[in-house]
Amino acid sequence: MPTMKEVAPGVWIIEGVFVNAFLLEGRAGECILVDTGFSYWFSAIERGLSLLAKRGHKLAAVFLTHGHGDHSGSARLFAERYGVPIYAHRLELPFLDGTMSYPPPDPTIGGPHAFLTRLVDERSKDLRPHLRALEYGEAWCASEGEIPELPEWRWVHTPGHSPGHVALFRERDRVLLAGDVLESVNFDRWGSLVRRKPGLWRGESPYICNWKQAEASVRLLAMLQPTLILCGHGSPLGGRVVAQQLGAFAASYPVPERGRYVGTGAHFDEGGAFQVPPAPFDRGLFFASATLVAALAASTAYRTVRGRHLGSH
Ligand SMILES: [Zn+2]
Ligand SMILES: [Zn+2]
Repeated sequence: MPTMKEVAPGVWIIEGVFVNAFLLEGRAGECILVDTGFSYWFSAIERGLSLLAKRGHKLAAVFLTHGHGDHSGSARLFAERYGVPIYAHRLELPFLDGTMSYPPPDPTIGGPHAFLTRLVDERSKDLRPHLRALEYGEAWCASEGEIPELPEWRWVHTPGHSPGHVALFRERDRVLLAGDVLESVNFDRWGSLVRRKPGLWRGESPYICNWKQAEASVRLLAMLQPTLILCGHGSPLGGRVVAQQLGAFAASYPVPERGRYVGTGAHFDEGGAFQVPPAPFDRGLFFASATLVAALAASTAYRTVRGRHLGSH
């Protein structure tokens, strides 16, 4: 069951076992839902909204850091129930208006999360007519901007995990909502997954579709020198040394030695993906299938021999 707590003035985290959503107090009497969890998160987020309603804040918009199903799963339900827009970056729109699906995750980079992506089917979704493209900021062109509902925050384009991924930053107290550029729990190692020791890691690695961009985005966020980092996955990370930790992580960002999106990666424009590298040979799947076939063959052979043996008596 997701729990909700205030982690900075007017910044609420709704923390689940796997993924987080956030409520930000915006203009007077308003709040904004940043990411929406899976579709079954609707009632948990609604409980959070009723708490903020008691403080006089009504939902004014949904803001998606990106469109993956664990972040956009209940966006439509909120847009319809509250009659609010769903903001997303232009490069994310083809994956949210039914045009196409995201490039498939890469199970070959290894680890528990990558292993599990073989079982997940990320379908394209259609959030029209509620979708609204983020307006590019004047000074920074396509890389930064604001939405009217969140005057204290600016969004920063941080591609790599997905083409139109954006983070949110509040200058006044240097609070950073990093989405899936970073995660504060490591889902790529079995041991870390069990211990759930907090620490900075690359966000949902099997879904990173351009590693060069992902690395550049982490460096960009490190330059913001945050004092509190709120990730799409894992608990909040704060304190005096967190900016230093992020700087160190950015300086030695762990890119896998090989993988589908290491090297050239996938490329996108406002029409969607126009270049996606072919799927590499999936050794993990090959060995798992070979083991299964061998086990079935051994079991069949055993039953045949045993049947003959019993038949001879
Ligand atoms: Zn994601
Ligand atoms: Zn995610």
